[in-house]
Amino acid sequence: MKIIMLGAPGAGKGTQAKMIADKYSVPHISTGDIFRANIKNGTELGKEAKTYMDKGLLVPDELTVKILLDRVAQEDCKNGYVLDGFPRTIPQAEVLDKALTELGDKIDFAIDVDVPDANIIKRMSGRRACLACGATYHIEHVPPKAEGICDRCGEALVLRDDDKEETVKNRLNVYHEQTQPLIEYYTAKNILKTVDGTVDMQVVFDSIVAILG
Ligand code: ADP
Ligand code: ADP
Ligand code: ZN
Repeated sequence: MKIIMLGAPGAGKGTQAKMIADKYSVPHISTGDIFRANIKNGTELGKEAKTYMDKGLLVPDELTVKILLDRVAQEDCKNGYVLDGFPRTIPQAEVLDKALTELGDKIDFAIDVDVPDANIIKRMSGRRACLACGATYHIEHVPPKAEGICDRCGEALVLRDDDKEETVKNRLNVYHEQTQPLIEYYTAKNILKTVDGTVDMQVVFDSIVAILG
């Protein structure tokens, strides 16, 4: 099963992608997590990606596509995966489709987690991230057991540099301009499914499971 998560920054793509990955035993692939891991480790890729991420801009397609195609070519992706944060532009979607078509393969579902902009700004200021293992928390909705510490790996949680309010506004503009057109793209391919992302995360997940079966 190959799934794409669509939605604005902070819509809950990562939260749902992790739940899908657990239930259906497929890897969760987040391009944002891959970039943040590279930044943390001080790689060249990380340095380049950070200049865009800190401004709320997208990392160029060329760089992003290469990373994603390398990742999905790995052995653990043979039976499927859930992509979180990729594709984010029409050209990215086209490259992915072309690569899959060459393998006689395709994406099964593109799930749009729908949350209005007004809810997003509030959600992001409460998000806390673990840069070591990719876990995500929310100070009100999903608090860690011990304040500021990751339940899964014990590392300190952070407010991401790009989750500050001004940057979130830029990211929302970038989303509407560059990523939202993907909703039409996957509608035309008859694989788009929309779920209401404003409700409790377990209820969001139930509606996704109803789609995936
Ligand atoms: P969120 O989950 O809040 O939407 P992500 O972790 O997916 O954020 O992405 C954080 C940042 O990483 C993006 O704002 C962008 O700069 C970069 N990024 C992640 N995925 C992509 C992608 N597919 N194309 C271009 N840039 C990306
Ligand atoms: P995305 O990957 O789309 O950027 P996340 O999954 O990181 O979004 O969620 C953004 C923030 O909102 C996180 O702090 C997360 O814990 C919280 N969150 C996710 N889903 C919900 C929900 N249904 N209701 C309330 N808060 C949520
Ligand atoms: Zn962690």
